[in-house]
Amino acid sequence: MAYKEDGVVIGWWSAGVTSAVACKLAIDAYGKDNVRLIYFQIDSAHDDNKRFKEQCEEWYGKEIEVWRSEKYKDQFDVIRKTRYINGPAGARCTLELKKSVRYRVEKEIDYSHQVFGFEYNKKEINRAIRFLEQYPYAGAIFPLIEHKMSKPECLHFLERQGIRRPKMYELGFPNNNCIGCVKGGAGYWNLIREHFPDQFNKMAEVEEELGNTCLKDKNGRIPLKNLDPNRGRKQKIIMPDCGNFCDLEFTEIEHKNLGSVYENPTEIRKFYTGEQKKFFNDGYETAQENIDSDLSVVLNMLKNSYGDIKDAGYKQAAEGAKAAFKELKVG
Ligand code: SF4
Repeated sequence: MAYKEDGVVIGWWSAGVTSAVACKLAIDAYGKDNVRLIYFQIDSAHDDNKRFKEQCEEWYGKEIEVWRSEKYKDQFDVIRKTRYINGPAGARCTLELKKSVRYRVEKEIDYSHQVFGFEYNKKEINRAIRFLEQYPYAGAIFPLIEHKMSKPECLHFLERQGIRRPKMYELGFPNNNCIGCVKGGAGYWNLIREHFPDQFNKMAEVEEELGNTCLKDKNGRIPLKNLDPNRGRKQKIIMPDCGNFCDLEFTEIEHKNLGSVYENPTEIRKFYTGEQKKFFNDGYETAQENIDSDLSVVLNMLKNSYGDIKDAGYKQAAEGAKAAFKELKVG
């Protein structure tokens, strides 16, 4: 493991809106030369990710590095070659396309911290606390939680920069996972069938080859070729983002500190290791207070006025936040 107190900060950029904003906050906080942004390329991602990546790079003023599996192109490739879809140990494609690549990154880069786009809500805060407890070596930082930013706020924040959300969100998907994600439910797969019939049919073929399925319910397995086209269409699609760490334990059990971290998100730092605490020195703390007060102006405006923001007021507040970000130095 290449954890070094004075190493770089890794920003995991996943082509999702939350990680995009978390990476921006990290760059503003730690300086763009101290942050390396990393994206895992998977061939089944939407083509629009290229446009989104380029716009984010322009916004950050720095390149997002592309890393990828040396063995597999996408989830279809993983499933065909390993003959495994999903199980109690998680999805095989997550392991091969993301976690294994992360192990390589961690080995090759001397890092001090890793930035994750967990958003500000109780479920994600609980996950973040569990993450810090279960992976203390990772040096995980959660800027969105510290800044009280949820996914809708991130979407708005990006669009205010003139960066359109990735196409998958526009089509009604809750995240920007691979097209044809094995973690999706019936509603998700019916939406894939509607917008991406080739990928739907490809996964149905893979299922037949393996004699296994992505979907199952209390009555057993549901092959995609037999999926009722109306099933799940009326429910909101809920599916997990595909992370690059192993599945976390106890995320369904509320941590005893959840309430206090929710009220005062910087309390999440209580879970940081000694090395991480040192990272948040006096200079950081002071600048952080500025950011928090400036950002709260911006965010309150966002909250109160979706669709009806007064441009001038927003810009002024955003400028204040930007100025505060610039002051932030980590010694
Ligand atoms: S996003 Fe879905 S399909 Fe892609 S690697 Fe993760 S679990 Fe597999």
